[in-house]
Amino acid sequence: IQNLTKTYQSGGNTLTVLNDISFELESGSTMSIVGPSGSGKTTLLGLCAGLDRSSSGMVELNHIKLNNLSEDQRAQVRNQHVGFIFQNFQLLPTLTAIENVMVPLELRGEKNIRSRAADLLDKVGLADRGHHYPSQLSGGEQQRVSLARAFSNSPKILFADEPTGNLDAETSEKVVKLIFDLNKEAGTTLVLVTHDLELAAKTQRILRVKGGSLISDELTTTETPDKINYAGR
Ligand code: ATP
Repeated sequence: IQNLTKTYQSGGNTLTVLNDISFELESGSTMSIVGPSGSGKTTLLGLCAGLDRSSSGMVELNHIKLNNLSEDQRAQVRNQHVGFIFQNFQLLPTLTAIENVMVPLELRGEKNIRSRAADLLDKVGLADRGHHYPSQLSGGEQQRVSLARAFSNSPKILFADEPTGNLDAETSEKVVKLIFDLNKEAGTTLVLVTHDLELAAKTQRILRVKGGSLISDELTTTETPDKINYAGR
């Protein structure tokens, strides 16, 4: 990320939401973005993941410069490399849980998508909820469907916006474990936005944003991800 800036025009004024943010993140590592409400965390995550386009500056993901790409090309990059867990889950309401997980598999033209989606739902402990619509699932269950969907393309990098924000302690622990297992088992890079400083401390690095600026960038550990005992931290 280099000199990233995002502005919005509102009522004739220019609102600067992110101001000259630069950082580099090593593949396979884990990082949290923290900061007060409205400081620009979700916006930053969306730009890093190619969901949105910056006003200026550069985003390079897995050696692909996103700024030069069209909307469709960015969608392709996301499909291939990125998993994204949204703050409000963003499941498609007219599709069942299993169909929601099948969507990215279908987009990638994969085979046996129903049985692969069933395996993914099993992994998040929802084997028996595949035929439920999002409105028939609890918040924690919807979050786990969104995790199964985010895992479906075996992403190089997983972005999660408040992955535990709406969950009780027990479900939150399960979700955190699933996310960190992905890092440990598949080397997936993790970028989490969170207000939960205990969760942030489980990642190797913490970026703090305030008023759209990066105010600190700290390492929480010098250990490589495979050496960290997350359960004991
Ligand atoms: P929270 O912790 O409350 O989720 P955040 O740090 O993730 O907040 P963002 O959602 O990134 O904050 O929003 C940063 C700022 O950008 C906010 O002041 C918000 O009002 C503004 N903003 C976001 N999207 C738009 C938009 N489409 N148009 C104008 N302003 C926007």
